[in-house]
Amino acid sequence: KRSRRGSILFGPVSLEDREESARSSYDRGSSIIDGIEGTIGNTPLIKIRSLSEATGCTILAKAEFLNGAGGSPKDRVALNMIQVAEEQGLLSPGRGDTIYEGTVGSTGISLAVLARARGYNAHICMPDDMAVEKSDLLHHLGATVERVPVAPITDPGHFVNLARARAKAHTAAPDTPSRGFFADQFESLANYTAHMKTTGPEIFEQTDGGQLDAFIAGAGTGGTIAGVAKYLKEEAGLTALRVVLADPQGSGLYNKIRHGVMYSATEREGTRRRQQVDTMVEGIGINRITENFEAGRGLIDDAVRVTDEQASHMARWLVEHDGIFIGSSSAVNCVAAVVTALKLPKGSRVVTILCDSGTRHLSKFWKHIAAMGLEDETAEHSDDLLAVLG
Ligand code: PMP
Repeated sequence: KRSRRGSILFGPVSLEDREESARSSYDRGSSIIDGIEGTIGNTPLIKIRSLSEATGCTILAKAEFLNGAGGSPKDRVALNMIQVAEEQGLLSPGRGDTIYEGTVGSTGISLAVLARARGYNAHICMPDDMAVEKSDLLHHLGATVERVPVAPITDPGHFVNLARARAKAHTAAPDTPSRGFFADQFESLANYTAHMKTTGPEIFEQTDGGQLDAFIAGAGTGGTIAGVAKYLKEEAGLTALRVVLADPQGSGLYNKIRHGVMYSATEREGTRRRQQVDTMVEGIGINRITENFEAGRGLIDDAVRVTDEQASHMARWLVEHDGIFIGSSSAVNCVAAVVTALKLPKGSRVVTILCDSGTRHLSKFWKHIAAMGLEDETAEHSDDLLAVLG
């Protein structure tokens, strides 16, 4: 039996193994942790009281914003991608290596922190429509940041393609012993396996050995939903578990799951629109099938589409009623958790993810919420969650 405290990060390990291996020393529960890596994983599972009361179910949220390196579930992914690359000799501290990544922000922040902690440089390519506090933070963490115009994935200037090309050019440069490493969170399977090895087992343990009826998550790369679903359904054998994708407006994944087809993304190509319909939401919603999403696609039972308006109301609701201050993707997850809970028998347990803090979203999502007038909302139904969500 695994210990409740920490040892499940990167697989079950004996005490002796733990002492020997840096990888398995990340134990938040002990009094001293070894470096910033020790703050990654083993996040609390919070019962959200107001949502539980409103739905008659128990709504539980994994507080991934409490990962201490970059403040999101991407800490787990960044750490795993770096460790796998180190094992393969693709990254080596002291050689002057640089980690390159295309990211909307969270993965870049986690990589930038861990790069500093482990002796690498970080070079981050990101779309220029993301909240400015993310690129500011990356800058202060010492990463090189390129904010690039929104472009379709077929365009060499797309932030992911640019990061790949920059890494390749670094390694190919003559007279340099250092290497460029393209982390490749969308396609690298070190992404979903981080969640399969850590987030999934943690949820299993925190729900008294898998006492949960549904798991809800959005997909950016798809790593979270694929890794957690694979662990819970395949490894832990929870075959009756309902896995539900939370998808923001404009994302193609909802139709892929519900109807087996995706919209053509070409309709809006050449415009600066990120989705067929623009969304305020950052980090989830995409119009292509990544390797990480594909790894879990067959395990997803349903999808819920969430509008920006619903997400905004939810974010405001959680501050007002629970003192929980979150970003846009977490709000989408919570709306989808409520929608799912309402279809389940009373008393069901529903687990979702709180990805990052609202402080990452002050200049965009929360500004939008303020502009909607929700912060001084005195609406008739403001104490009725279902009326508020429409
Ligand atoms: N929320 C935020 C804020 C994110 O940045 C991301 C990742 N892009 C996600 C959620 C989605 O996670 P995943 O990539 O595992 O699907």
